[in-house]
Amino acid sequence: MIQYEKAICPYCSCGCGIYLVIEDGKIINQEPQSDHPVNEGGNCPKGRNAYQFLYAEDRLTTPMIRKSGRLVEVSWNEALDYIADYLKKAGPNEFGMLASGKNTNEDAYVIQKFTRVVMGTNNIEYCGRICHSSTAAGLGPTVGSGVMPISQLDLEKVDCIFLVGINLKETFPLMYKRALRAKAAGAKVIVMDPRKTVTARELADVHLQLKSGTDVVVINALMKIILDEGLENKEFIETRTVGIEELRTHLASLDLDELSKICGIPLTKLKRAAEIFAKAKIGSVLYNQGLNQHISGTDGIRALSTLALITGQYGRPGTGLSPTRGQVNGEGSGDMGCLNVFYPGFQKVGTPAEPHKKFAELWGVQTLPDQPGLPYTKLIQQTKYLWIVGTNPMMAIPDIDNVKKSLQEKELLIVQDIFPTETAQLADVLLPASAWVEREGTHAYVDRRVQKIDQLIEAPGTAKPDWWIVVQVAERMGFKEKFDFSSPQEIFEEIRRVVPSYRGITYERLDKTLGGIQWPCPSEDHPGTSTFFTEKFNTPDGLGHLQVVNYIPPAELPDKDYPYILSTGRSIFHYHTGTMSRRTPKLDAEVSDAYVEINPKDAALQSIREGSTVLLTTRRGRIEAEARVTDNVPEGFVFLPFHFSESCANKITNPVLDPNCGMPEYKVCAVKMEVSK
Ligand code: SF4
Repeated sequence: MIQYEKAICPYCSCGCGIYLVIEDGKIINQEPQSDHPVNEGGNCPKGRNAYQFLYAEDRLTTPMIRKSGRLVEVSWNEALDYIADYLKKAGPNEFGMLASGKNTNEDAYVIQKFTRVVMGTNNIEYCGRICHSSTAAGLGPTVGSGVMPISQLDLEKVDCIFLVGINLKETFPLMYKRALRAKAAGAKVIVMDPRKTVTARELADVHLQLKSGTDVVVINALMKIILDEGLENKEFIETRTVGIEELRTHLASLDLDELSKICGIPLTKLKRAAEIFAKAKIGSVLYNQGLNQHISGTDGIRALSTLALITGQYGRPGTGLSPTRGQVNGEGSGDMGCLNVFYPGFQKVGTPAEPHKKFAELWGVQTLPDQPGLPYTKLIQQTKYLWIVGTNPMMAIPDIDNVKKSLQEKELLIVQDIFPTETAQLADVLLPASAWVEREGTHAYVDRRVQKIDQLIEAPGTAKPDWWIVVQVAERMGFKEKFDFSSPQEIFEEIRRVVPSYRGITYERLDKTLGGIQWPCPSEDHPGTSTFFTEKFNTPDGLGHLQVVNYIPPAELPDKDYPYILSTGRSIFHYHTGTMSRRTPKLDAEVSDAYVEINPKDAALQSIREGSTVLLTTRRGRIEAEARVTDNVPEGFVFLPFHFSESCANKITNPVLDPNCGMPEYKVCAVKMEVSK
C-alpha cells in the first residue's frame, strides 16, 4: 500500500516541508510540500534527497560492548546494565554528556535532566557550543537574548539585507530564496565575507571582502561613518538604548584610513555600505560562522548588534540581528538546556534567580548543581566517563589527534548514533539510535519555529529513540520515578510545565498548524511570537546596551613558515561531518572528495594546478586535498570544506578558544601548501 505522509526536512534549520511516499513501510520517494509556508513547494539539493541515508548499509542496529578490544553485539539489557553499573561509580565532576542539534527537543530535555538529576553535574553540552556559543555571549549583554528575533518569512519584506560571514545560498537555501525575492523588489544587499562566495557573486550590491578576522574593524568603521555623518537613528538611541556617549568617544578615537587599511576594504566601499544600511527602512542582519568562529567572535557579535541598535534596526518584522543556527534542532537543544550554564529555557546557572533551586522543586529532588559545568572541548578532555549522543567530535573539533587521545583515555566512552562514525569507532559501548521519521518528537528551527516530526516508519533492527535509551539507564540507576516517560508527548508535557516559552504549544496544536508555532507562546490561545523586542529588549532594564569593542587579531596569523590563511566551511551538497549526506548517493556524487580553493596567483607561485593533490600543513598536522584554482578566494587565503573524513579539516585547525564562550577559531589559522609528492 502506498501512503503520502508529511515530514519536515532533516537537514538545515529552515524547516521545509516535504511529502514522503511510503510503500509497505519503506520510503520510496519524496516531493516538496507545496503548501508549507517555509518552502512553498521548493527544496534544495539536500532536501530533495532527504531520506536515502536512512537505508545506508552500515546503519547501527544492535547494541555493542567492547570486549577484548573488539565491539561485540549484545542485548539491550546487557548494554544498559553495563552502562548503569559503570556510571554508579562516576563522581559528578568525572561525568559528562554531549548532545546534538539533531536530537529532538524531547531527547535533549531528557539528556540534560539525566546529567543534572542522576549524575549531579552541569557537564552537559551540545554542538551549539561550536556553532553559536558566541551568539549567547554576544547578544546577551546587548539585547538580552541570543535567538533569531524575527520570522524567516519576513525576510522578503526588507529593503536591506546585511549578510555577515554567511554564505546564505549554500547554507540556508530557502532563506536565500526569500533574499532573492527581496532583492527583486528593490532591497539592497551587503555581503561581508573574505571569499567571493556564490552569495556574494549573485546577491551583493556591496561586497565587503575583508581580511579574515577583522570583522570588528569593519563594524567599527561602519558605525564611525554613521555617527560622523549623522545617519544614526537618534530617537531610537534616545528612547531604547544606553551607552551612546561611551561609544561616540571610542569611535572618535579611531582613524578611518587606518581601519580601512587593517581590514583591506576601500573607504568608499565602507561608506557606501554604511549609508545603505543606515538609511534602510527595514534592515535585516543575518550572520553565521564566518563571524562566530574566531577568538573575537563574541566581540564581533556585540559590535554588530550595536550597529543595528544605533540605526534603529530592531523591534519590527524583518529587522534585527539574526543568528542562523545550522542544525534542525540547533535552537531547540539549547532551549532544552543542553549547555553547561543554562537550565531549560535559558535559565542561567549562578544568577540571582537560582534556577538550580527552582528546577530541584520542579523535578522533585533535594539538590541540583549550582556551578557551571565544563565547556565542550574541556568536557572532552577532562571527564573520565563520557556519553556522546548523535554528534561526532572526531570530525568536528579542532586538532583531532588530541581529541582522539582524550577519547581513548576514557574510563567509559558511550556513543549513541545511527552510523559507525569516526567517534563511534572509539566507543566502549555503542548504542543504535533511531533517526528522523523513525521516531516522534519536536524541533525548534532557525526562527524559534517549533514543528513536530511524526513516526512514519520503523527503525532498523533494534535501534531505539535517544530519549528511550537515556530513560532506561536512569531507571537502572534508581531514578524511575523522575524519568517516568513512556512517550515523547509525555516528555513534551513536562517541557511545557518547566519552560515558560513553550507553555502554549501542544502536540495537538502542532498537528493542526502547518509551519509550526514560534516561541514564546505563553498560553494555548496565543498564536506564537514572530517578532521580538517590539517594545523593550530582554535585558534587565529593557534597554539595548551599546557596546564598545576593540579589535583583537586572530591567534595564529601567517608567517614565513606557514604563509597562508586557512579557513574552513561548507558545501551546499553536504551537511556538517557528512554522516548523512555522504551516505546519500546523489549528494556524494556531486562532491565526493575533499577540495581546497586556492587563488590563481598563489597556485602559480606553488606550481599547483587545477586538480593537483595539495599537501596542507599546519602546526597541528597535515592533510591532502584536491586543488580548485579560483579567484573566489583572495590571495594568501585558502578555503577547505570540513565534511570529508579522509581529509579531515579539523586535523589541522587551531584549537584556540574565544575566552568569552569557548568557541574554537575555525576560521583562521596559518598553513603552508605544496604539491603532494
Ligand atoms: Fe532542507 Fe534546509 Fe534545504 Fe529546506 S533549505 S530543503 S530545510 S536543507
